[in-house]
Amino acid sequence: MSDRDLVVVENLHKHYRLGAEDVHALRGVGLAVRTGEFVAIMGASGSGKSTLLHLIGGLDLPDHGSIRIAGEDLTRMSDRQRTLFRRRRIGIVFQAYNLLPTLTAYENVCLPLMVDGQSLSEIDARARELLARVHLSHRVEHQPTALSGGEQQRVAIARSLLNRPDLLLADEPTGNLDPTAAADIWALLRGLADERQTTIVMVTHEAAAAANADRVLVLRDGRLVGQIDTKGHCDSALVASRYQELAR
Ligand code: ADP
Ligand code: MG
Repeated sequence: MSDRDLVVVENLHKHYRLGAEDVHALRGVGLAVRTGEFVAIMGASGSGKSTLLHLIGGLDLPDHGSIRIAGEDLTRMSDRQRTLFRRRRIGIVFQAYNLLPTLTAYENVCLPLMVDGQSLSEIDARARELLARVHLSHRVEHQPTALSGGEQQRVAIARSLLNRPDLLLADEPTGNLDPTAAADIWALLRGLADERQTTIVMVTHEAAAAANADRVLVLRDGRLVGQIDTKGHCDSALVASRYQELAR
């Protein structure tokens, strides 16, 4: 690791007990992500992607291993410390958007800061700036049911950025979207990494999604099995063929 690493994960193990069955979701994963880097973690369904992302986001704890973000080890925090750390420093976007249905786009974006008790004028300016950044200035008063899937995900991304997180995590953010809406989301994430040096970790099973990252880590059966360097060419056919070699 170097001191430019924002995320340092070492030897993560996680298993789930499902009835009589023991499922080893992660079997010793280590990785580092530099500040400002956009990393994709690619793997088949069931390879452990969501488990890994949830651990990096402090939503769950590993059986073994450490997760350091900006030098702070999530596994050594109390539940309360970890919750506060996550709320202040990590943005998370899920496949299912998770917007509150009775609130407008604007209110959904503001909600996390309302909880933290920041000044209303500051929240208002920041929420409008972020909704503009995700190209939704004309949709601020719309509720989620009046928005397309792609628009809902853009609201969720704006919400995730409200606290100026050090780290943005995305779990299959375009899994429910048509190709055009998905391409808009990838361009948005790529733009955030390029313009604001937002550090992004995105998990996906799609080569076309992963090709937008600077680097692709390939996860198979709970282990990282290789890396694909994508910086500069963004060729999804190349990512797909390298992935096929690594994942089989
Ligand atoms: P992915 O996101 O790559 O599809 P997951 O991390 O969701 O993979 O799951 C990895 C493995 O762990 C799978 O075999 C899955 O069935 C299992 N798993 C995930 N979450 C749970 C859980 N809460 N209880 C039991 N098994 C789980
Ligand atoms: Mg998953």
